[in-house]
Amino acid sequence: MARKFKGKFAGAALFAVVAAIILIFLMNEGKAEIIPYSIFLEMAYDGQVSEVVLSDDAQMKFKLIGEDDYLLTDNPRNATLKEELLLQGIPVSEGGFLAAGNASANLAGAALLCFILFMVYRASIKQPQKSMALSIANQAEASAHFLSFSDVAGNEEAKDSVADIIDFLKNPEKYAKYGARMPKGVIFYGPPGTGKTLMAKAIAGESGAPFHAVSGSDFVQMYVGVGAGRIRELFQKARQSGKAVIFIDEIDALGKKRAGAAMGGNDEREQTLNALLTEMSGFSSGEGIVVIAATNRLDTLDEALLRPGRFDRQVEIGLPDLSARKSILSLHRKNKPMSDKVDMDALSRQTVFFSGAMLENLLNEAAIFAAKRGADAIEPNDVDKAYYTIIAGGEKKDRSGIREAERRITAWHESGHALAAKLLSPETTVAKITIVPSSKGAGGFCVNIPPDKMYWTKQELEGQIMINFAGRAAEELTFGASNITTGASNDIEKSVSLAKDYVTRYGMGESLIHSEESEMKECQSLLDSLYQKTKAMLEANRRILDGIAQELLVKETLGEKELDLVIKAAGSPNVELRVLEKA
Ligand code: ADP
Ligand code: ZN
Repeated sequence: MARKFKGKFAGAALFAVVAAIILIFLMNEGKAEIIPYSIFLEMAYDGQVSEVVLSDDAQMKFKLIGEDDYLLTDNPRNATLKEELLLQGIPVSEGGFLAAGNASANLAGAALLCFILFMVYRASIKQPQKSMALSIANQAEASAHFLSFSDVAGNEEAKDSVADIIDFLKNPEKYAKYGARMPKGVIFYGPPGTGKTLMAKAIAGESGAPFHAVSGSDFVQMYVGVGAGRIRELFQKARQSGKAVIFIDEIDALGKKRAGAAMGGNDEREQTLNALLTEMSGFSSGEGIVVIAATNRLDTLDEALLRPGRFDRQVEIGLPDLSARKSILSLHRKNKPMSDKVDMDALSRQTVFFSGAMLENLLNEAAIFAAKRGADAIEPNDVDKAYYTIIAGGEKKDRSGIREAERRITAWHESGHALAAKLLSPETTVAKITIVPSSKGAGGFCVNIPPDKMYWTKQELEGQIMINFAGRAAEELTFGASNITTGASNDIEKSVSLAKDYVTRYGMGESLIHSEESEMKECQSLLDSLYQKTKAMLEANRRILDGIAQELLVKETLGEKELDLVIKAAGSPNVELRVLEKA
């Protein structure tokens, strides 16, 4: 009885503490994100504000486009503000969550708060260990099960670029002796599920160093000071073990770029980040500690993280290409009874947008289907069902058709760029052409390395514009004028800016001096005629264009040598068009 009472009392006390923490957190949040009214207005007129919640409070809430969190600004309680915002096309609602003078909203807000507190309270009773277990000591994974590079299929370039780090971890004194400064921090960036965590574990495994892992998002909902303490604790633990790999997943949760200095800051995040940077500058490079951080996007990170002595090595871990997918699939099928009838090569080809995690998941789902049937082996039908489960999220909808069409458009688009570069600019190296989407959102890309030179001739500039246009031109030739896509927007932007330089900066157009109007006209006619010429050039070399695109559909990525072979095999180019005298 007494025990029970004690338990209840402890529960209530915990409830009160949690409630207090949440209140502090809420207040802290509010305090942290107040934007000066003048800046709010600027952003509103600049089209950056997506929503405003008006109330009678001293402050009002608003959201920026693309952001999830509300920001606050002073409420001018100005009768015309609403109209002005509406005229700007900004949605305005009234009576915020905690708006004063709105009893029902207040009540709803209070009820919601109580509900949240209750849920937190319940969760804390149900899983007492879990809230405590956030302690780094429990989170940091012991390196009991060593992984090695043989557990990571593909990712060859990334493996190469961390080979020296493994050597350093094995043997820090060797590097210290030569005064070599190893990177203290490495960032792995790329889409989710591409094996960033796996690589970090394998590095620890290969070098025999303990692996300590945390996630940036764990630190987000903490109150000031706690996160920083945890970071110090983590590094202390790493130091004790002599050498270590510290892995920080989702580093962006800690080190996201600021929207602007005026934004104020999130104190907690800032303190945690500062603690991390301080710890990193605290250990000497002879100590054998490497911090590896992972993020989906490098461009959203605060530059402070990327400075020398911090995360100064950045390694891209992208989606796997065809041969990498083949090896990932064969790695994960090893422990599964797979029927010979399953065509693994075809499966590798069908999974063009899949990450390593999706491939692993695909085979796992197939194994589950087979197990449910009680079959001896995983059959093609199990794999098919798993495939649709993964791409359509369980629905029967077959989206692979759309993807296949997109793949074809990308293949011809990129082939257009590559062929134009080959025909127009023999000095340009076409280093790589691929239809594997990049982590930056492009459907595919063609890496042209233009010659490094001081002057460009008029003809060469025209050639560059045509190379840019060739993606769109190839789409139009192959799929028809009404099926051209938005994929060429970047190319067109580049062409237009080159054409402007051509006409105004370099005076290569018909006249040297321009009014705005004549400049426009000249650019227009230059671009029109170059686009027509690009189309004609590709048309005349249609067989080669199609040959490259077909090869890309099969292999997905071609290097320079392979590209040359395909061009050769498709027949000799129409050389007359290589010379561009008649502009
Ligand atoms: P990330 O950290 O990039 O989000 P993970 O490392 O967590 O991705 O990958 C999740 C899982 O996907 C891994 O545990 C593994 O099963 C599988 N996987 C991903 N990439 C690979 C790869 N290159 N080789 C083998 N398995 C992979
Ligand atoms: Zn393009």
